[in-house]
Amino acid sequence: MSDCIFCQIVQGRANCHRVYEDDEVLAFLDIFPVSPGHVLVIPKEHAVDIFDLEETSAQAVARVARKVAYAVEETLRPDGLMVAQLNREAAGQTVFHYHMHLIPRAAGDSMAMHTRVPGDPGEMAGIASRLVVALEH
Ligand code: 5GP
Ligand code: ZN
Repeated sequence: MSDCIFCQIVQGRANCHRVYEDDEVLAFLDIFPVSPGHVLVIPKEHAVDIFDLEETSAQAVARVARKVAYAVEETLRPDGLMVAQLNREAAGQTVFHYHMHLIPRAAGDSMAMHTRVPGDPGEMAGIASRLVVALEH
């Protein structure tokens, strides 16, 4: 879909801090991170939400989410890791291309989705490259 920002990222028409990619799935850092290392995992094929998602895409995204979770664990050593996935506006969905959030959590932190505070580009680039390395082995 040409007006979908995540499709534009898949097609290389918009930038992202990519951490992992295979034939079906792309994982990259959220531009408004809830915490450092906030990753989004998406199917390359456009699907609006979980109700529009092919089972094979769901399996592919879940497999990559688990893989990225291990890389985040190994690289950033968070106290906890939240996996979230929002469907439809009423649930808080703001980008209508299916995605899973992986959000590193610190003990005692206050959870705030959609902070709209842009991540520091240098910090994001550093984290993305560390995760890329972790995902290469
Ligand atoms: P949702 O609310 O739909 O579950 O989450 C959408 C997420 O996409 C938000 O956390 C938002 O920060 C992130 N996001 C929106 N636009 C972009 C973008 O252009 N690039 C990246 N990397 N993340 C985006
Ligand atoms: Zn899309």
